[in-house]
Amino acid sequence: MKISTFDTTLRDGTQGESISFSVDDKLIIAQKLDDLGIDYIEGGWPGSNPKDKDFFARARDVKFHHSKLTAFGATRFAKNPVHEDRSVLALVAAGTPVVSIFGKTWDLHVKRALGITEDENLVLISETVAYLKQHGKEVVYDAEHFFDGYVAKPDYALRTLEAAVNAGADVLCLCDTNGGTITGRLTEIVAEVRRRFDGVLGIHTHNDSDVAVANAIAAVEAGVSHVQGCMNGYGERCGNANLSSIIANLELKLGHTTIGPEKLTSLASVCRFIAELANLPLRNDQAFVGKSAFAHKGGVHVAAVLKDSATYEHIKPELVGNRQRVLVSDLSGRGNIMYKLKQHGLADRLDEDARRELLERIKQMEYEGYELEAAEGTFELLVREALHPGMHFFDVESYEVATRSAGHGPSQSTASVTIKAQDGIHAATATGHGPFHALHVGLRQCLSKLYPQIAEVRLTDYKVRVLDSHQGTAAQVRVLIEWSDHKRSWSTVGVSDNVIEASWKALVDAIRLELMRLTEKDDAIEKAVEDYCWGV
Ligand SMILES: [Zn+2]
Repeated sequence: MKISTFDTTLRDGTQGESISFSVDDKLIIAQKLDDLGIDYIEGGWPGSNPKDKDFFARARDVKFHHSKLTAFGATRFAKNPVHEDRSVLALVAAGTPVVSIFGKTWDLHVKRALGITEDENLVLISETVAYLKQHGKEVVYDAEHFFDGYVAKPDYALRTLEAAVNAGADVLCLCDTNGGTITGRLTEIVAEVRRRFDGVLGIHTHNDSDVAVANAIAAVEAGVSHVQGCMNGYGERCGNANLSSIIANLELKLGHTTIGPEKLTSLASVCRFIAELANLPLRNDQAFVGKSAFAHKGGVHVAAVLKDSATYEHIKPELVGNRQRVLVSDLSGRGNIMYKLKQHGLADRLDEDARRELLERIKQMEYEGYELEAAEGTFELLVREALHPGMHFFDVESYEVATRSAGHGPSQSTASVTIKAQDGIHAATATGHGPFHALHVGLRQCLSKLYPQIAEVRLTDYKVRVLDSHQGTAAQVRVLIEWSDHKRSWSTVGVSDNVIEASWKALVDAIRLELMRLTEKDDAIEKAVEDYCWGV
């Protein structure tokens, strides 16, 4: 059965605490959602703020191939005639083919929030819907607090729906606005509404009880054919129902049609894209589309998925544009690492002892607090060193760094680095913005005569994590440094109880890797590493 998808990331989603989209962001996201095959895109509330008004004005120039742009608003104010209500007029002026309006269902809200009688509220609903229908709009009527209202006073809740449907509403959308309804109860109520109304019913759930997606799916099973939600589950308080999970479940588990199997394969990339614009990391454990959704770490699991992925995967990750990952860690059996090396023809290039040694080294490092899954550069170096044990570019003889600050002026750091290379000792002293920068410049100066071709790799991110925080400042720290050479980026990791030493280790690994890459081009290694440490 075809289930309509209604995305409200740009309206309800932006009510999430850390979400803010510019008008440009909103226009780009709307086009992405159109490409994904979403049926309705709720773009904002034109009557409530200038940004949303501007969005609808600029959206007039955007050609949507599939989606129907929808403007959101409320039933008219009690004191205004409908044709003079500014919020309703703004909805008409937004120029969208569809409008969604919410009205009150719960007698508590009618009395307390609006301060009008129950009958007056029915008039607001019916007049507003009728007015929008007269202006040629497809009207989605959002019955706000429907489930709470139904529990408090079922007859009145149903009368509000009747008012909307009699005035011509195209969709009656039942909203669990406070997100407090549990699935079984919600399903019973939806089924009851289904028995009484023939037209299209919709569902809009919030995640305050952590069952928003389950509620939306259960509602579909009880006869709803229009589902609202936000990509990545963004939204007010604990978020709206995650539309990406709803879509995947309806398509893959229940055999319904939403965006269709072909578009479904871009689900993960659209979720990542929207997270990027929201400036929030996509949660690794986000169902279907997160980086860890099909990641296997435990050795037993890895051994099994290598034989048959169905043993530990509920769907094929490719169906939603995700992929299987096999992680290396101290939990893993030898299978994980060998899996990646084998996949790229590298395992045969290591003898039995070299394989064992590599695995032991990785396990030991992870035990010490290295996190290799996030440090593909360090992992690549380990693999390269195992494959080319004779290739050793330099040893560090000593390093020293000092930071001096005088008065209120900026501090200055000076580092002295001495290394031993094939042709003898090299030493350099360098200054930098901070101790790590000075060490970085010093080490490169030491190597520049011997390896003039060494590329100027940029440091793009630097993260410090305390590993055993109960020891206070004596705690181990893990430093993760991200590097980039414009074509790609990679990270190296260092662990120590001294933040300078941890940074130095990550730096030396990064430089060794750079030299290895310059000396020995090895696509198979790079491919294996890229696969194992899959970034977004
Ligand atoms: Zn909502």
